[in-house]
Amino acid sequence: MRITAIREIAVPLEGNVANALVSFAEHDVSLVAIETDVLRNGKPVIGYAFDSIGRYAQSGILRDRLIPRLKSAAPDSLLDASGALFDPEKVLRTILRNEKPGGHGDRAAAAGALELAVWDLNAKLKDEPAHVTISRHFGRQGKRNGVNVYAAGGYYYPEESTQRLVDEFKAYRELGFDAFKMKIGGADLDKDLARIEAALTIAGKGQRLAVDANGRFDLGTALAYAEAITPYDLRWYEEIGDPLDFDLNRQVAEAYSGRIATGENLFSVPDVKNLTLFGGMRPGKDIFQMDAGLAYGLTEYSRMIDLIESHGFDRAQAYPHGGHLINLHIAVGLELGGCEAYPGVFQPFGGYPSGCGIGGGLVRPTDAAGFGLEEKDALRPWLTSLAD
Ligand code: MG
Repeated sequence: MRITAIREIAVPLEGNVANALVSFAEHDVSLVAIETDVLRNGKPVIGYAFDSIGRYAQSGILRDRLIPRLKSAAPDSLLDASGALFDPEKVLRTILRNEKPGGHGDRAAAAGALELAVWDLNAKLKDEPAHVTISRHFGRQGKRNGVNVYAAGGYYYPEESTQRLVDEFKAYRELGFDAFKMKIGGADLDKDLARIEAALTIAGKGQRLAVDANGRFDLGTALAYAEAITPYDLRWYEEIGDPLDFDLNRQVAEAYSGRIATGENLFSVPDVKNLTLFGGMRPGKDIFQMDAGLAYGLTEYSRMIDLIESHGFDRAQAYPHGGHLINLHIAVGLELGGCEAYPGVFQPFGGYPSGCGIGGGLVRPTDAAGFGLEEKDALRPWLTSLAD
């Protein structure tokens, strides 16, 4: 068994939304395909994945460095002991050859896309959903009845109004979601409190609504918001300051009685180790949001989960960032706390196909082989274009 082709395409994100720091109008995502010489129904088996949302496509790093290394590797050096599957760890080691440690930036997302495509490929070779392949590989049962889910949205739009936010969350509620997440920090505190109160008219209670500052706040602002939102008893207060300012995170955790969440912009095990040691994260309470697609893939992500567990945290405290099918399969396969969904934004990647049952606060994947990306209507044309 060998790889016969590796392709990448930069897919633009649809829509014009912004959080406190970034407009997504110019963002794109690297979609990759790894084609093999294994034939099913006369067609080659192809593994697909992408590098999650928020860090742009990584076409240059993929085409100039990572893909050539994978193409030039001896075919057998990429296979597991049985020879029937690809070994994601060996693939990761191959594509990172001659790369220095540290400085985990865009490279981590580029590697994540390729490593995750290997999981899609392996699941298709076994003709099973990726969460089954994942739970078997890591010796877990898997949460096959589904994982906790919430609808993420509540961005700032050029035509900003609290009514728009209410209408957006109403639409998510009609899709079956009963918990929500919205952005803060893109307006002043008074305006944001008005937005939170508007969102609560749909969420019903604070534990059904999380807020996300996208790393914007300095310590003073972070503490002012913490004090102001405490009476709402919100689900969590997310990515409060700079993702690498563990001291700020610790000081907010010491001052704020509610749950905090962070980690989506940490791309390596050592970064997560520093968060657990110095970030004030509280076992049994706070939320870890690392995202395999931004962080070298599932091999590295599973090591992050091992690491937080070794520091007294529970994997139920892990809610991967991203709100898409790949992370749903990972959350189910690794028995994580849950995952987000982007039902209204970040198309064609965000949200889940209609076959994924959403209800009772849970979402579960379909029985499609692999990550089931082919079931996503808006994504299928891009997959088809990569297969040709
Ligand atoms: Mg976030």
